[in-house]
Amino acid sequence: MSRGGQTKRAAREGLRKDFWRRFPLEELTRPEWEALCDGCAKCCLIKLEDEDTGAVAYTRVACRLLDLGTCRCGNYPLRRQLVRGCVVLDRDNLETVLSWMPRTCAYRLVHEGRALEPWHPLISGDPESVHRAGISLRGRMVAEYEVPEEDWEDFVIEEEI
Ligand code: SF4
Ligand code: SF4
Repeated sequence: MSRGGQTKRAAREGLRKDFWRRFPLEELTRPEWEALCDGCAKCCLIKLEDEDTGAVAYTRVACRLLDLGTCRCGNYPLRRQLVRGCVVLDRDNLETVLSWMPRTCAYRLVHEGRALEPWHPLISGDPESVHRAGISLRGRMVAEYEVPEEDWEDFVIEEEI
C-alpha cells in the first residue's frame, strides 16, 4: 500500500495524521497508542536478568501466550491476568520499561525523538513489512512450554535486538 493509502487508512481508523511525529507518547489517544506497536513481538520474548549487573538478555523463547505465527498476543485483553510476568507499557512506567525494550521498539523510538523505520507498518502501510524486514522474530522463536526453564540460557540472543 502506498503512503497515501496509509494516510487514508489512518484517517479511517481515527488516527491523527503522522501522530507519531507530532505528539509525545503521553498525548497519544488509545487507538494511536495501539497502532504504534509494530507487531515485532520482541517484548514477548523471555528475558533473563543478570543478578549482579541488572543487564537484561533476550532469549528466543516466547511467552506461552504468544501466537508464534502472527506474533500477536493470544489474549491481549486478559494478558496481565493470564501471564504474571507480562509487563504492560503505559504512560506511568515509560522510563522504567523503555530502558530495557528492544532498540527497534516504536515506543522507544518515539520517546527518544527518533523516526520510525521504513518497515514500520505505519510507514509502509503493510503489517507484514516488519516480518519481511527481518525485524520480528517470526520463524525463529520457540514456545515457552517447549523449553524447560533451566535451558532458557541456551536460547539467549547474543546480538542487540
Ligand atoms: S517491542 Fe515495542 S513495537 Fe515491538 S511488539 Fe513490543 S511494544 Fe510493540
Ligand atoms: S501475555 Fe501476551 S503481551 Fe504479555 S508477554 Fe505474553 S504474549 Fe506478550
